[in-house]
Amino acid sequence: MQPRSSYIGRFAPSPSGPLHAGSLLTALASFLDARANGGLWLLRIEDIDPERSAERWIAHQQETLRHFGLLWDDQAIIQSRQRPLHEDALDQLRQQGMLYGCLCSRSTLQGQKIYTGHCRHLGLPLDDAHHWRIAMPKVSISCEDRVQPAYSAAVHKDFGDIILRRRGGVMTYHLAVTVDDAAQGITHIVRGADLWPETPLQCLLQKLLDLPQPRYLHIPVLTDHLGRKLSKQNRAPAVGQDCPAAPLLCTLLSALGIKIEPQWQHQPVQVILKHALDRWDPRNIPRSTSLHLPLHESEGFC
Ligand code: GLU
Ligand code: ZN
Repeated sequence: MQPRSSYIGRFAPSPSGPLHAGSLLTALASFLDARANGGLWLLRIEDIDPERSAERWIAHQQETLRHFGLLWDDQAIIQSRQRPLHEDALDQLRQQGMLYGCLCSRSTLQGQKIYTGHCRHLGLPLDDAHHWRIAMPKVSISCEDRVQPAYSAAVHKDFGDIILRRRGGVMTYHLAVTVDDAAQGITHIVRGADLWPETPLQCLLQKLLDLPQPRYLHIPVLTDHLGRKLSKQNRAPAVGQDCPAAPLLCTLLSALGIKIEPQWQHQPVQVILKHALDRWDPRNIPRSTSLHLPLHESEGFC
């Protein structure tokens, strides 16, 4: 199948709360990179975990994107509706003998970070009563990024046998994101650098499922004054429709290495974005994996 465009990018928020300045920074960077390359920019709602997703945040996040002038192409894809594709992928892995059932609970694992395969040879069934884990192959996976330094990971040692489908049937992030990116024909992924260390897992799944590998660009994540990634858990202030768009947009653009002009602050978002596109150059994005922006009340607390 011919791709629709040589650049297809995406923003993939989880509807677990309102967007905050950090998620908006990611949306903005992926939008600019797509548009600067004459590409498509798609929106995917990652509502795969029903316990952490709520319908009202889908609408809220979309209104926020529109408010900041970040208009996407096509209709947003809802990840939970992609389930048949996720099941197909699991079937393929099952046929390759890569999956096994696991009965371990969090308490039996006692905080063990890397699962070393306790249930691997127990022959437990792949059903709703068990986690479905991948028997991680002993391979080294190398990952390249447009700004971060390349590296390789020994996936069996660094990650162990991760869960792809949780007891009860919920698919996990790495499986869903890998399958959905391929299904949408995503060629370029721009997202927060917190996901860069886990990218080998997605590259491995691409190999096993025979899917193309997109190009990656991981941008710094915004942190609060304590150095913690802005997130709902850390009570990062929401950005929404009632937030004056131009000042925050300008702050975020300059965090991405774009030289802004004072008069932009008073211009409509579409005009600001057009200026930004003329100056977009990913080489100017700070190389760090995190960044603290002292946001003013008017920028962060809307
Ligand atoms: N839903 C994920 C998040 O919000 C998206 C990660 C990705 O872009 O791959 O963190
Ligand atoms: Zn187990």
